[in-house]
Amino acid sequence: MIMRIRGVVLPERQERTFWIDGERLRTAPPAGTASKRVETVVDGGWLLPGLVDVHTHPGAESPDDTFDEVLLRRHLSEHRDAGVLLVRTPGTAARMPAWVDSDTELPRVRSAGRWLATPGRFFPGAGRDIAERDLAGAAVEEATASSGWCKVIGDWRWDEPAVPLDVLKATVEAVHAAGGRVAVHCQTGEGSRNAVLAGADSLEHGMHLDPDLLDLMAAQGTAYIPTLSAFAGNADVWRGRESSAKRSNWLLGWQGMIDNVRLAHEAGVTVLAGTDTFPCGTVATEAQWLLRAGLPAEEALGAASWTARHWLGLPGLTDGAPADLVAYDHDPVTEPGVLARPTRVILRGRVMR
Ligand SMILES: [Zn+2]
Repeated sequence: MIMRIRGVVLPERQERTFWIDGERLRTAPPAGTASKRVETVVDGGWLLPGLVDVHTHPGAESPDDTFDEVLLRRHLSEHRDAGVLLVRTPGTAARMPAWVDSDTELPRVRSAGRWLATPGRFFPGAGRDIAERDLAGAAVEEATASSGWCKVIGDWRWDEPAVPLDVLKATVEAVHAAGGRVAVHCQTGEGSRNAVLAGADSLEHGMHLDPDLLDLMAAQGTAYIPTLSAFAGNADVWRGRESSAKRSNWLLGWQGMIDNVRLAHEAGVTVLAGTDTFPCGTVATEAQWLLRAGLPAEEALGAASWTARHWLGLPGLTDGAPADLVAYDHDPVTEPGVLARPTRVILRGRVMR
């Protein structure tokens, strides 16, 4: 039996027919199709190369919980059932077990190893605690032992110093020299600035990011991953609190994260969708936040699909591409509400639902 798929491919908006040949998509019937039964598993509608969540931490619901492989499998399954076929995990309490890459029913995982935390930054013991002088070496180790990424906690408390720029710069240079990429958690003005000036590959949250740095981010290819849905719940909590310098600082930073989505896009920065929250499988909500923050509708969808996929080195829906695909009855660009409800999920050439 050969599976056939027909629909309008996004973002190209072209009606196409694909055949599934093992784990690959083909734009022409594979050899021997004439003698086999052909089943059309998607007949019409809109097609995406899967959804992508570039900031998720499967395996534990809180950084100070023990990393649990049963939970890891469940979280990844939740992503897949929502049509998320590729995730990046910027920091986990333990490195990904080998079975994650060999289980063909789970989304593709691009891991960053363990969170790299210098003294006073991050939940104690939750990541890999490391002295500032050892950060570069540890970052290379995590990137080399995972999918090429590492994750540095670039700052922590709002009124305490960030990882010094020279330390962060040396870390990024060392990881780049080893062929890896660096994600930096930043939620202070100093932390966000240092991440950009150090040449990080992605700013996670990027709270208090000075918009004057967006041109440099665009020029050097630093992506902005604001994880708005993770902060939105806290925004209500902070608004309800008595006024204080910390409250004002937080709310100012939150508004800046929103404003910077549109400004980053206009400056040519790649803006991507990451959830950072539980339950897993809610990247559609983050795409809606990006839309509300001013990203054009097609860009907001791309941030949670083809743009993120390309950024992580995978192609869209083309001949020979991995047969990862989600289908919708309605156009998810004009009706973003459908994004969370794909009518068909195909992973590695197999129908998942
Ligand atoms: Zn996170």
